[in-house]
Amino acid sequence: MNPFTLCGTLIHAPVCGEIEVIENALVVVDAAGNIAGVYAPEAEKYAIVKETAVAANSLITLAKGQYLLPGLIDLHVHAPQWPQAGNALHLPLYTWLQEYTFPLEAKYADLEFAEKVYTSLVDTLIANGTTTTLYFATVHLEATKLLAEICLAKGQRALVGKVAMDNPAECPDYYRDESVQQGLADTRALIEYVRAMPGNENERVLPVITPRFIPSCTDEMLTGLGELAEEYDCHVQTHCSESDWAHNYVLNRHGKHDTQSLHDFKLLTNKTVLAHSCFISDEDMATIKQQRSGIAHCPLSNAYFADAVFPARKALDLGLDVGLGTDVSGGATPSLLENCHTAVTASRYLDGGVDAELPQPERGIQGSRIDFKEAFWMATAGGGKALDLNIGLFKEGYAFDAIIVDTKVAGSNLVVWAELDKAEDILQKIIYNANRQNIRQVWVQGKLVGGTDH
Ligand SMILES: [Zn+2]
Repeated sequence: MNPFTLCGTLIHAPVCGEIEVIENALVVVDAAGNIAGVYAPEAEKYAIVKETAVAANSLITLAKGQYLLPGLIDLHVHAPQWPQAGNALHLPLYTWLQEYTFPLEAKYADLEFAEKVYTSLVDTLIANGTTTTLYFATVHLEATKLLAEICLAKGQRALVGKVAMDNPAECPDYYRDESVQQGLADTRALIEYVRAMPGNENERVLPVITPRFIPSCTDEMLTGLGELAEEYDCHVQTHCSESDWAHNYVLNRHGKHDTQSLHDFKLLTNKTVLAHSCFISDEDMATIKQQRSGIAHCPLSNAYFADAVFPARKALDLGLDVGLGTDVSGGATPSLLENCHTAVTASRYLDGGVDAELPQPERGIQGSRIDFKEAFWMATAGGGKALDLNIGLFKEGYAFDAIIVDTKVAGSNLVVWAELDKAEDILQKIIYNANRQNIRQVWVQGKLVGGTDH
């Protein structure tokens, strides 16, 4: 890859709750696709950096109305559930799982079907500006390998897990690991396969140890997966205290919360991402912080299946690494921007309350609000921190994973008024009204991989 320099208005969130805007910024990208430097016009080296890029014919200048943002990081996607996105959301969780989700996930024994679905999903996520996705696949080793291959071929940064689920009491006979040994052997095989994939030398695609959630795994399976996480220093993902049922199930079986139980099984590391975590206690939050694990906040999905709002404000104020997840298909949309929007809305309901019959001071949990700045941080820098990867910011040494958003696309819901809107206002408008038609370019590790220009 040839090094290049990009010139334009950059918007990112190095600090949670704050937005940094640099107009006419220069972002220098090296031959490995990493950021070699970021220069504001007042920087001493600005002129020389720009002249050097012009002389090398490697300066890319953004058009008026275009903005450079970090690529979006989706911390929770069930890849096999893509065909049912926007479907069956009127059902309770149990029916949704037994009648729709498990039968659908079981189909991925068929590699032809898997290829069709996974190709469509990865294309869709990239088109929506998602440069990194943390994926749950299914129990099937071969189809999970295929998902990793598709992400690698299409240029997305991806973390891919074969789902472990072996508990006969909670998993259907037709869809579970045959045994603990089989589940562990397949997880090991996936880790070794992904790490050795030709073309993956820079580890743009990573394997993930993926117990579905505690109820679907036996203690033997959880013990084995914790040992694998240590042996391979590998990412881990699972669902944590998502709903009343799941939270209480673990309390009954282990006598403690999900967080403490996962910690005991050595599954809580700096490379762990816990999906949902709606019902975690103060003690759980302290444990998650101490272990430097991350949380995938999935605000839209929570409205359907959690019956509670994750306390994002509280977790962020405690300094936890919280990112956002679409939770396709518990959440109906593949757009992480829409989930930024929903995260703000959900926090407003939590703050203000929802029962109009209660007096206002008793209605909600005051001080629970977040705004677009925190939502944007979670979708970018927060996601990067949760994954323990150098992504989500424009900073020297970070990967150049970025999107170019165009505010001048005809027929778009995103309308900017030059005489009224400042850059921060424009970012808020992007979060609320941008769609895939506004996403002109999607870059991963310095390579153009998608967008309407692609
Ligand atoms: Zn999920």
